[in-house]
Amino acid sequence: MAEKVYRELCETLAKRRGRYPGKDIPEFYALVEELFTPEEAAAYNAIPKGFHPADVIAKVLGKEVKEVTPILEGMADKGLCTAGSMGEITFYGAPTFVPGIFEFQFMRGTKTERDKKIARLIHAYKAAVDVDQGPVTITFPTTRVIPVDEKIQNDNVIHTYHQVATYIEKYHPLAVSTCFCRHEAKLLDETDDCGNPDDVCMQFGIGAQFVIDRKMGRQITKEEAFAILKKSEEAGLVHASINRQEIDFLCNCCACHSMILKTALAQPKPGVILNSGFQPEHNPELCTSCGACVDRCPAKAIIMADGDEWDLNLDRCIGCGVCATGCAFEAIALIERVGVLPPPADQKALLEAVKASQA
Ligand code: SF4
Ligand code: SF4
Repeated sequence: MAEKVYRELCETLAKRRGRYPGKDIPEFYALVEELFTPEEAAAYNAIPKGFHPADVIAKVLGKEVKEVTPILEGMADKGLCTAGSMGEITFYGAPTFVPGIFEFQFMRGTKTERDKKIARLIHAYKAAVDVDQGPVTITFPTTRVIPVDEKIQNDNVIHTYHQVATYIEKYHPLAVSTCFCRHEAKLLDETDDCGNPDDVCMQFGIGAQFVIDRKMGRQITKEEAFAILKKSEEAGLVHASINRQEIDFLCNCCACHSMILKTALAQPKPGVILNSGFQPEHNPELCTSCGACVDRCPAKAIIMADGDEWDLNLDRCIGCGVCATGCAFEAIALIERVGVLPPPADQKALLEAVKASQA
């Protein structure tokens, strides 16, 4: 029975796709047998696409709602399914491994022996899938960089989706959790610490409510959210999220650990595939050639070898603005980058764009 349900889980996760779909390899079973009880695996398999109340899932399982609800609630607490309430009714969803289940495992920032074991199992599974799939080719980005908007020159058109502040002002509640990429690395090897702040992963609205309800993060005020943004910008972290105009989370990424940035920067032309819609404009009259921007640029897009003039490789520049925030002489501002399409309006438009790019 257990073996059968885990095989079905593999098939379900293969259909749901994501960055790491289900693969019929030993590393998959070692991981899911630690994450899911057989009962939980069966419940995951029974959740139809989208979000559904417990009675719909109970019907698929042929069980009573009162029997299935505690299983789903336990799974939501463990980050194996999502849960959100509308009025009195809770709707459950079955997320992919990535984005979804893997990240949920590390957002609490805890360091128990089980956390370390799960980190090792996830790492082994991702490594096996990476070998199997080969290098990732992004045909249409599912994530995007959001620029440091205060560095955008005044005479540029700034859309609301270019401004993180828009989302902080608009959504309630707001939450912060531990950066799962940096935390996963530390669970695998506690010396693997780049020194960047950990508590900077933000969620907005429904996403925040889920994280708060399931104790994967904590609710924050708008003032705290702006302070986290400032801390992230000072540290040289890149604002990144899903490639939609409406977002429900904001990662503050380092080039050394962030899956979003590492995947993008491994592309032949990251600046073309993952761009905020802006690029730096350099003012040679203000520049002292201190080199701070070269050191901070996560994409290694600035060229300034000894005696050379400041130059920019647009094929690599992702338009994050980290160079501008690090310039003490105000010698860099962001200007609009011509030819960058606006992000898709919503999830449906994003999925259609990805599909069209793969046709
Ligand atoms: S940080 Fe500013 S002053 Fe220093 S090299 Fe870069 S642009 Fe010039
Ligand atoms: S030059 Fe580097 S730091 Fe500056 S916007 Fe481009 S990618 Fe970001």
